[in-house]
Amino acid sequence: MTDLLDFSYEAQPMRVVLRAGASVTATPGEAERLGLRRLLVVCGPRGAHTARAVADALGPACAGLHARARMHVPVEVADEAVEAVRAAGADGCVAVGGGSAIGLGKAIALRTGLPLIAVPSTYAGSEMTPVWGLTEHGAKRTGRDPVVLPRSVVYDPELTLSLPVPLSVTSGINALAHAVEALYAPDTSPLIALMAQEGVRAMAGALPAVADDPASPDARGRALYGAWLCGSCLGATTMGLHHKLCHVLGGTFGLPHAETHTVVLPYALAYNAPAAPDAVAALSRALETDDAPRALWDLAGRLGAPRSLAELGLTETDVAKAAEVATGQPYANPRPVTTDGVLALLRAAYAGEAPR
Ligand code: NAD
Repeated sequence: MTDLLDFSYEAQPMRVVLRAGASVTATPGEAERLGLRRLLVVCGPRGAHTARAVADALGPACAGLHARARMHVPVEVADEAVEAVRAAGADGCVAVGGGSAIGLGKAIALRTGLPLIAVPSTYAGSEMTPVWGLTEHGAKRTGRDPVVLPRSVVYDPELTLSLPVPLSVTSGINALAHAVEALYAPDTSPLIALMAQEGVRAMAGALPAVADDPASPDARGRALYGAWLCGSCLGATTMGLHHKLCHVLGGTFGLPHAETHTVVLPYALAYNAPAAPDAVAALSRALETDDAPRALWDLAGRLGAPRSLAELGLTETDVAKAAEVATGQPYANPRPVTTDGVLALLRAAYAGEAPR
């Protein structure tokens, strides 16, 4: 490997528990460790049943259940949740659910400074990052603040048994995207490279097993383990072209988060591959292949995931617009980002042809 002995690495101060049943058996203990006695449990409307079980397990340490999380954390949803925290006299929050619920927990932490415990139910990885996001007037603002980093993360494979296979697959590939971009990030490091490789190996191995038997606690546990590692990579490094494209496609064109990551990843990797040989070598080892972009594309296809932006509802006219928006501002990427290059990438992703 080249250049790997020139790096900075910052450890994130958090505890991680992964165990079957941990959402109910470990969350109360995590709250106690943090000295928290009045926790508001937040979740999305569809996650209320699971969050109720966590709230019940907290017993008297639960100050209420707020089931109002929504995708991309609209600012009015955050305002309402902060109000609920104040009304309940809460001294901390537990966010139960996917990236949307954890995003709401982070917004509360950002506004109030209260500690957050995350109990993730997808593989999106937000629980491992100090990045928050808030949407106002259709535009999503994001920022980094250590105060939003969960103090404790409880991974419970049982919580994910209900995650439908299509969502499990796209959420898992969303996680892979974090590890892929961490491998060629300007601020990668030897430890991150190890976590990324292991995360990719674990997740790419687990997803076919999850698709085969969604109720398998073993497959679900391995996927969550992969999500933890991939999410840690996301939290520690600066993402490049792939995440930028997905941000534009989601933010400007309303495309769904995990599905968009799934479609774009093989093409973004193929685009960057010539400029990131070490990353490609690491991915090839993790995926046991000599063509990493193709292996990712094959994985999505084999598991029945969408493989074209057209399938996700993008139009041909949007492709040119998206290329323009995505190249409007410079950002870190191993290969120079040109409008023509991005246009070709997006055209291939639009059509869903094999990545080259
Ligand atoms: P999500 O939280 O919106 O969940 C997607 C859908 O899955 C929802 O309808 C939800 O109800 C359902 N769901 C979740 N867990 C389930 C389960 N176990 N069983 C059945 N249904 C379940 O989406 P997501 O993909 O987890 O997260 C995406 C959001 O997170 C985006 O807004 C993204 O920007 C954000 N995100 C932020 C970061 C960060 O570092 N800040 C990182 C990754 C993602």
